[in-house]
Amino acid sequence: MKILVINAGSSSLKYQLFNMESGAVLAKGTCERIGAGGTVTHKKTGAQPFFEERDLPDHGAALARVIWLLTSEQYGVIASVAEIDAVGHRVAHGGEQCKESCIVTEATIKYLETIVPINPLHGPPAIAGMKACIELMPELPQVAVFDTSFYSHIEDFRYVYPIPYEFYEKDRIRRYGFHGTSHRYVSAKVAEVMGKPIEELKIITCHLGNGSSITAVKNGVAIDTSMGFTPQEGIPMGTRSGSFDPTVLTYLMRTKGYTPDEMDDIINRKSGLLGISGLSNDCRNLHDARENGNKRADLALKMMTNGIKKYIGSYIAEMNGVDAIVFTAGIGENQSDIREEVCADMEWLGIELDIDRNRNFTRGIPFNISKEGAKVQTWVIPTDEEYMIALDTKRLAFN
Ligand code: ADP
Repeated sequence: MKILVINAGSSSLKYQLFNMESGAVLAKGTCERIGAGGTVTHKKTGAQPFFEERDLPDHGAALARVIWLLTSEQYGVIASVAEIDAVGHRVAHGGEQCKESCIVTEATIKYLETIVPINPLHGPPAIAGMKACIELMPELPQVAVFDTSFYSHIEDFRYVYPIPYEFYEKDRIRRYGFHGTSHRYVSAKVAEVMGKPIEELKIITCHLGNGSSITAVKNGVAIDTSMGFTPQEGIPMGTRSGSFDPTVLTYLMRTKGYTPDEMDDIINRKSGLLGISGLSNDCRNLHDARENGNKRADLALKMMTNGIKKYIGSYIAEMNGVDAIVFTAGIGENQSDIREEVCADMEWLGIELDIDRNRNFTRGIPFNISKEGAKVQTWVIPTDEEYMIALDTKRLAFN
């Protein structure tokens, strides 16, 4: 069985074709600058990568090129589209109605169109990606997998915001949570490698990349998460501020005359690690700068690691304990210094790293980095959102 996973962004379309018998990726790639020129990067596993500049006016054109590549004699891995069994779509926002992954129907698309106002960046490209696939591969089952659905069991006192209740009732302003597919994958994986049923575990998953979120998973269910109405809430990220006193926004708008769009730009693209350090949004650069005595790089990293520590502490309190902490994504999987800083001085909570294991381990596989005998197990688990989407697609399309 072969499943194509599609992740459509505002000007990009990423894809992976899985062989579900072996779990292997047969080919993957990215179309970028859709609507503003266009580039295509394609890689058949085991072969040289293919790259081209090509006019891609919309997501439909990008998808047509992907299908051409997947079926081409030179770069392809299948003889025709008929070899693909189903398509899985990453959808960032499922609103309040899409509580689980589902087969895409007209009603699904109609509902997703109604929530575009609360998901203006990611909604339209996801819908365009689904429509393009339906048009080009009408006979195939299409499955939507939502980043928000892992959070559909969070209780109201954790998702309602402390502003007049009508904003929730009338405008659907609430915590939705994001990165759910990644948190779902790594929490299931850590239970598997610990050899325990997830229903008996309390897990805190830290997805730390350019965007970062922390999730509390109790007995297999996400009970709280750091991201909120948008992926802006939580800890300081690459260029996003994360949470801070909301009055700062109104103060700045009043005193400096910023428009809502300008304010959005500041908190989304000019804040976080980049805004604090004035240097970079990339942790690797900040790590080097800090080693060379750069105080603001040091400040930015301390603010991030302290933010993560605070979420871990609060989720331990909310779950009345923790069995496993998981680090994943670009920073979580690769930056041992950040993991050490987050886990420092938490012996009292049972969290202790084996420094040698933390610094020297085999990349790309789950790895236990906790000290022998530590009460809480700390793991690095490589995330694989695309494979999770492929698994959901297989389950929904063929069960
Ligand atoms: P995104 O949220 O865009 O998917 P990533 O998960 O790729 O982001 O994470 C980007 C962050 O991860 C950057 O801050 C970068 O410093 C860090 N990172 C990514 N890869 C590595 C690596 N191989 N070694 C060290 N740090 C890395």
